Amino acid sequence: MTGEKKKKIVKTIKVDADLCNGCRACELICSAFHAAPKYSGNNPARSRIRVIREPLRDVYVPVYAGDYTPSECAGRDKYVIDGKEYEECAFCRASCPSRDVFKEPDSGLPLKCDMCEGEEEPLCVKWCLVDALTYEEREEEVEEEEPQEELEIGLEALADKHGLDKIKDALARMSLKD
Ligand code: SF4
Ligand code: SF4
Repeated sequence: MTGEKKKKIVKTIKVDADLCNGCRACELICSAFHAAPKYSGNNPARSRIRVIREPLRDVYVPVYAGDYTPSECAGRDKYVIDGKEYEECAFCRASCPSRDVFKEPDSGLPLKCDMCEGEEEPLCVKWCLVDALTYEEREEEVEEEEPQEELEIGLEALADKHGLDKIKDALARMSLKD
């Protein structure tokens, strides 16, 4: 119910890009943890964290996968920080139609950081040996709202990609097989 307040634990991963050395251990452990079965593979393309990495320009920036968006932005962002120019959309966390980042390579389904649900501490933080990633928790009072189910987010992405009618047809065919 909206309008009601409740206590919520806010989990934060602080990124100190100056400390990141681009080792990509965070990508490795994230993809391994989310492999099915767990730890059966380690493909960084399935990781929920991506390290923008340009060693020749000393650029290493870890970015976490955020929400899925069905439409791309009308414009693009380009950042220059300390004289270094970063590629367009470099800091964007969205799984968006304009690029392949933060999508399952096989299915195209969106990937989103889940803070390593079930673990005491995010594994990317544990594996970052130079402390470029640090984990913090705090309690906050927030308005209660229903979280969007993972299944719903996946179906929304598939419907955007293939059209709702095709999804309905596929589901009808599958239910006939059962
Ligand atoms: S917190 Fe867990 S799910 Fe999120 S990017 Fe790090 S390893 Fe991946
Ligand atoms: S594990 Fe740490 S140092 Fe290595 S790429 Fe990830 S954030 Fe950077």
